[in-house]
Amino acid sequence: MKAIRRKKLYYIIPITWLFTAWLVTLALADETATVKYVIDGDTIILVDGRHVRYQGIDAPEIAHDGQSGDPFGEEARLYNEKLLQGRKVRLKLDEQHTDHYGRILAQVFLPDGTWINKAMAAEGLAYVCLYDKESPTAASTFKELLSAQRSAISAKKGMWAVSPAKSEPIYIGNNRTMRVHRPDCPSARETAKGNKTIFHTRNDAFMQGFCPCRRCKP
Ligand SMILES: [Zn+2]
Repeated sequence: MKAIRRKKLYYIIPITWLFTAWLVTLALADETATVKYVIDGDTIILVDGRHVRYQGIDAPEIAHDGQSGDPFGEEARLYNEKLLQGRKVRLKLDEQHTDHYGRILAQVFLPDGTWINKAMAAEGLAYVCLYDKESPTAASTFKELLSAQRSAISAKKGMWAVSPAKSEPIYIGNNRTMRVHRPDCPSARETAKGNKTIFHTRNDAFMQGFCPCRRCKP
């Protein structure tokens, strides 16, 4: 009797898995496009004028509007440009989702299958960032992006090779926004107690998939 039940499980597990994979595929719309211009490590402009923001990652800022850029912002832009300038790409977009600036959120692939969002994280040139938890695309790709980031942290690649000028005794993660803050950041103080995770090193936060607050830049 027991053996029969176990046998049934062998079928149920792959069927459930296939069904989930099918649901994820349904949620994703595929599109091909040509890249006209690379703005920075996580944003491109297509030949048709649309702006695409890479979903699930956050690259360091380049200098803009008189503000100086973040460390590795320029490296991230150059690497992205090297991979993509003038290339044909495949976009996997979650059609429901654009960001505050009307940019399309997408996972971007080269014809040879290179997954650009993941490549940026793997080189230590972008933070993995689950800023839109409700998006099926973001949720389904987070684990693999984070795995690439963890390898980059361990191998001290790109921005993981250097420590920030000022370190803190603790860092405060907001479980709702998935951002991590310095303890004196106003956003950390505004975080509800139940939503806080305390980290003793900043890398602990990044290993768990939190990404840096844009205000306090931990
Ligand atoms: Zn902050």
